[in-house]
Amino acid sequence: MNTRGVTWFGLAFVAAALFAPVAAAQAPLKIFDAHLHYNHEPNPTFALDKVLETFRRNNVTGIVANSRPNKGTHELVEAKSPNLWVVPFIRPYRTRADVQNWSTDPTIYDLIEAEYKRGYYVGVGEFHIHGQAAAAALVKKTVDFAVTHDLFILAHCDEPALLILFQHNPKAKIIWAHTGFSTPVPRVRELLEKYPALIAELSYRGGIADGAGKLAPEWRELFGKHSDRFVLGSDTWIPERWASYDQIIGGYRAWLANLPEDQARRIAHGNAERLFKGKMPE
Ligand SMILES: [Zn+2]
Repeated sequence: MNTRGVTWFGLAFVAAALFAPVAAAQAPLKIFDAHLHYNHEPNPTFALDKVLETFRRNNVTGIVANSRPNKGTHELVEAKSPNLWVVPFIRPYRTRADVQNWSTDPTIYDLIEAEYKRGYYVGVGEFHIHGQAAAAALVKKTVDFAVTHDLFILAHCDEPALLILFQHNPKAKIIWAHTGFSTPVPRVRELLEKYPALIAELSYRGGIADGAGKLAPEWRELFGKHSDRFVLGSDTWIPERWASYDQIIGGYRAWLANLPEDQARRIAHGNAERLFKGKMPE
């Protein structure tokens, strides 16, 4: 073999080594969006067909559907899209003002009970609650309702409120929206270890990775230990989030690609399949 032959051989070898992982990475991971709002106030940002196309384009094949008012969730369920697994959650809000008032307004509890009669709900939330406001009787009643009917709770709350929710009913299955936004990572780990039914949702959570998808060491370690406890979300609470949906999902993909494949798969959709007892469509 002459020098030239060696070079070609070397190049072919390098190419083979390079292409193998690239080919594997080209099948994009299916993503389950565990924090999705399809709000109508009074009209949605996107019509339903555009919403479904947005999911398709991003290989998002499962969602927690959650909307203010619940009409958006009804539409997503009734669409019966073969490409989309819909996991509906009862939103305890009719209007934006309910974000503040739900925990002291008895008519909201009536709304939860009435919605539940549709028969297809898997969770309650997202609701917002902070600090001692979580101690309100109606909050306890809502947590107890969820436990009685084996519903998940999607809670946007600070740590004090999270602890109160668990005090209300230790059997609560809580998905912690935004994972406390900025709760120190060692504390997140303690909470996950103390409350086995706690699931951490990662929209707007700071500090996980840089813009290029390079994971912070403490997050890499936490995922290494507890990759069965995290889910992803877009949190499309305002039109801007729909406008940047591709970037939000792309941001998740960037750091998922830097995790061991089994961990990435769990966080992307495997945990949702296990928790919500379903299967992502092919
Ligand atoms: Zn939200």
